[in-house]
Amino acid sequence: YLYEVLPQLSQIFRIIDKIGEGTFSSVYLAEAQMTDGSRRMFALKHLIPTSHPVRIAAELQCLTVAGGKENVMGVTYCFRKEHYVVIVMPYMEHQTFVDIVGSLSFEDVRHYIFHLLKALRHIHKFGIIHRDIKPTNFLFNRQKREYALVDFGLAQGTPDTRIELLKVVKSKSHKGGGSSTKMVEESLGKPKLVPLPPNTRNTALQSSTKAPAKRPCPASRIKHSKELLELDNAPRSVFGEKNINGTNSHKPGTDKELIPRKIVSSKHRSVPVRTTLNQRQKSPIESQKPKPPAVSPSLTCNCYMTDRICNICLSRYMLLIKLQIFIFIKPIFNLN
Ligand code: ADP
Ligand code: MG
Repeated sequence: YLYEVLPQLSQIFRIIDKIGEGTFSSVYLAEAQMTDGSRRMFALKHLIPTSHPVRIAAELQCLTVAGGKENVMGVTYCFRKEHYVVIVMPYMEHQTFVDIVGSLSFEDVRHYIFHLLKALRHIHKFGIIHRDIKPTNFLFNRQKREYALVDFGLAQGTPDTRIELLKVVKSKSHKGGGSSTKMVEESLGKPKLVPLPPNTRNTALQSSTKAPAKRPCPASRIKHSKELLELDNAPRSVFGEKNINGTNSHKPGTDKELIPRKIVSSKHRSVPVRTTLNQRQKSPIESQKPKPPAVSPSLTCNCYMTDRICNICLSRYMLLIKLQIFIFIKPIFNLN
């Protein structure tokens, strides 16, 4: 799919695997041949086409301005064609946090928190508030003791932020009568309400196909044009964040130059997708993210064997409590 929508990718990268799937993106492991003949691994983050252009640009600007040091993920390149955007980052091999959390020593935890705070101190110097700190966004390689803060998709700026685009866009989510609404404010013009989405990625993609919005990239070339500031009315798809852990031991990429690959017809290529998904960690901020509808039409529980209680089970539990209360008070008040 990526080769189809962004043919330039196929000239440089061989996409190997899907390594992560977040709320607003899919992340792939890809290999590229460098000018010195070596091969390097990269993470390709494909942002869902319905993401707001300013939001995408701001995420990229956070990475370009503050990334690449102090445990903050850097960025190598960015591709854009129409509304398709792929951010290229050095690949960092990492463990799934839930797989190792039980075996971490006190020292490990101390180091982990120390390095997380280091990353936060660094981004705070730039006036970036990440707003989505959680294990899936702070990559950790236990063997190499490497750490990397990723995902500035929800970042906001302090009043004196050094990230120009964070001054432009400010997003707030607020609860509203069962279905959340995401409000995107702009420095110019009134805040607009973007109704939250139907719940399938496909729906979002379809809606974006109907009305593709122009996406700016890379951030350094971005002008605060009217076009850029126009709100994308297409809703963002809402998904639980998963990271799909690669078992490959690939070295993180460096800043060496990439050389184009031979073009192979994308029709003949298939991208293997791992099926093992990480357990999901939920941060307070994530709980502000738009949520899928409370109950699926089939009423099938979707939290079985996970660490969560889905709304279906929760409502069943509430029903049970209500029933118990009713059975208890019935004889007292002689209710029918
Ligand atoms: P989203 O905005 O959709 O949450 P993220 O940027 O958090 O996307 O990436 C989702 C997952 O992809 C991460 O949890 C991580 O497992 C993987 N990932 C992201 N960036 C990298 C990277 N540079 N190297 C290795 N894995 C990455
Ligand atoms: Mg994430």
